[in-house]
Amino acid sequence: MPIKTTSELRLGLAAMPWSIFNRPSLQLGALKSYVERNDDARADTFHIYLPVAAAIGIDWYSRIARSGWAGEALFAPLLFPEMKDPAGNLFYESLADENAPLPDFEEMVGRIEESCTAWLSATDLGKYRLFGFSVCFFQLLPSLYLARRIKKTWPDLPIVFGGSSCSGAVGLSLFNHFPEIDYLVDGEGEEALTRLCRFIAGDVDSLPANVRSRQPSAHKVISKDISTEKVILGDLPYPDYAPYFEEMSRLFPRLPFIPTLPVEFSRGCWWNKCTFCNLNLQWQNYRLKQGERMVEEILHLARTHESLRFTFADNALPPHEADLFFDRIAAAGLDLDFFAEIRAITEPKRLRLYRRGGLRTVQVGIEALSSSLLKKMAKGTTVMDSIAALKMCSESAILLEGNLITEFPTTTEEEIAETLINLEYVFPFSPLQAAIFFLGYGSPVHNRAGQFSIRAILPHAKNRKLLPKDLLQSMTMLMHDYRGDRRYQHRLWQPVTEKIKVWQEFHRQRKKNQPHPLHYMDGRTFLIIRQERRTGAPLLHRLRGLSRKIYLFCGEPRKSEEILQAFPAVTAPALAKFLADMSTKLLMFLENDRVLSLAVRHDREV
Ligand code: SF4
Repeated sequence: MPIKTTSELRLGLAAMPWSIFNRPSLQLGALKSYVERNDDARADTFHIYLPVAAAIGIDWYSRIARSGWAGEALFAPLLFPEMKDPAGNLFYESLADENAPLPDFEEMVGRIEESCTAWLSATDLGKYRLFGFSVCFFQLLPSLYLARRIKKTWPDLPIVFGGSSCSGAVGLSLFNHFPEIDYLVDGEGEEALTRLCRFIAGDVDSLPANVRSRQPSAHKVISKDISTEKVILGDLPYPDYAPYFEEMSRLFPRLPFIPTLPVEFSRGCWWNKCTFCNLNLQWQNYRLKQGERMVEEILHLARTHESLRFTFADNALPPHEADLFFDRIAAAGLDLDFFAEIRAITEPKRLRLYRRGGLRTVQVGIEALSSSLLKKMAKGTTVMDSIAALKMCSESAILLEGNLITEFPTTTEEEIAETLINLEYVFPFSPLQAAIFFLGYGSPVHNRAGQFSIRAILPHAKNRKLLPKDLLQSMTMLMHDYRGDRRYQHRLWQPVTEKIKVWQEFHRQRKKNQPHPLHYMDGRTFLIIRQERRTGAPLLHRLRGLSRKIYLFCGEPRKSEEILQAFPAVTAPALAKFLADMSTKLLMFLENDRVLSLAVRHDREV
C-alpha cells in the first residue's frame, strides 16, 4: 500500500524546447495529476518552450523543432561556448533543406538566452523543494542548460531528470557527467517521482532502485524494488493540461489557436521486435488502457479544454482495444480529429471504422519495400501489407505518413532492385519520406552489431558538433554512427533516394481537388480505370464481365485460391495470365500467392 504523506511539498516540473509548440507536454500533465492525486506534492508545471517560442517567433520555433538537431545546436554554445562554430554549422545544415531564408544563429542563441533569463527572474524557485525536467528527443541540451542556470542561483534546490532520454546506460552516463542532476529516474516516472517526493519530504528514508541519487544512503533500505512495480494505465488519473492553457493565453493572448492534446492508450510496443528500434528502452512491460476508459478520457479532455484534436503518443495503437475505442467514439457524435501511429492495417472495414471515429492521420511503420529487408528489420510485415495499408488509407481518406529506411546495413543489390520495382506500384499513393538509418543505442542492431556488418560503434557525427570531444568520448548517447558498410550502402541506395524524390514531386505538383491518380469508376457491367503517369496523358483501362468482378473482389489482398473458389468459371492458367497482365500495367500488385487491386473508388470519401 502506498504510504500517505501530509507534507506540503512543492514540486516544479519543466518541459524545454523543442517540444511541439501547439501541444501541452503529456509527461508534465500525467506526472502533475499523479503526484497530486494522493497529496504527495503540489506540482507546478512549466512549458518553457512557450516563452522560447514567443521570443524567437512561432514560425521559426516550429521550423527548428521539426528539424530536431537545429534546436539542440542553439543550446550547445550556451552550455559549451567552445562549440559555437561547429554548432552553428550544424544549425545551418539541419535547416538547409527547407528552401527558405535561414535565421541568424547567433541572434537566435541570444534571444533564447534572454528568454531563459527572463523566465528565471520571473519565477520564484525558492518555494520548491524539488525541480524536475522531462527529457525526451532533442530536449537534452536545453534541459541541461536550464538546470545549470537554476543551480547557479539555487544551489540547494535538488534537480531530477527523467524521460525517454534518461534510460539505462544513457541515463547513468548523464548522471555521471552532469553534477547539476541530483536525481535521475530511469524508466517509468509516476511512482518513482512520488516516492522521491516522499523521500525529500522526510516521509520515507529510502529511494526505489530506479531513482539514481548522489546520496549512497538513499538506497539503504529497499523493502521492494518498485522499478518492477508498474502502474496500471487504466488507474491513472487524466493528465492535467490546465497550466499549459494558462501559459498559452498569457503569452499569446491574441493567437486564434486550439491546441492538439496528447493522450496515451498504451505503453511500450506490443510487437517490440524491430531490429532498428530503441523506442522501448524506457518501458519494461507492455500495458494498455481498455477502449472504454480511453473513450471516457477523450470525452473528459474534449469537454474540459474545448479541444477536438488529439494525438496518440503510443508507438503503435493496441489493435483490439482501438477497434472498441473508435466504434464507441464514432457513436459519441463529436467531430474529433486523431493522429496515431499504427502497424500496417490491411482490412478496409477496420480503417473505415477508425476513420468514422475521427482518425485522420496515421504514421504507419512501412520502413521497407523489399520482403527480405523487412525480414532483416524483423518488421513482421510483408510488402503486400505495406502496399495494402497505403491503398486502404487512401481509400478511407486517412492521410498516411511513413518512412522508408534507407542505407540499412547489409542491404543487398537484389533488395535495392526489388525496392525500385515496388516503388512503381506505390506511386499513386501518398509518398513516404526517406529516413537514413541511424544506429540507436540499445536497439537489436546495436546489440548484435556484428550480424549487421558493423565493425565499430562511434559517436554520432552530429553530436560531435554539439559536445566537447572529451565529454563525448566518455558518454553513452542514444544515437551513434558506425564503421561497417556505410559508404557502400550510401552508394547503393542513391537510386532509391532519387526515386522517392520523384514520387514526392509528382504528388507536390498535383492540385488538391484532382481525382486520385489511380482510380476506377464502376459501370456495373464494366469498370473504367484512370491511371495517371509521371509523363504523358493518363491511361484509361476498361474491364468487363469477370475481369471487372475479379478486380473488385481483389480490393483487399486475396489469395489466388480464394479467387478461384469465388469464380469457378475461371481456370488457374487464365487467372495467372490476367493477374500477370494487370501487374505489368501496375494496376494490381502480386506477392507470392497474394494479389491486390490498386485503383481506389472515384467517389471515396475525401
Ligand atoms: S518500430 Fe514501432 S513497431 Fe517496431 S518495435 Fe519499435 S515501436 Fe514497435
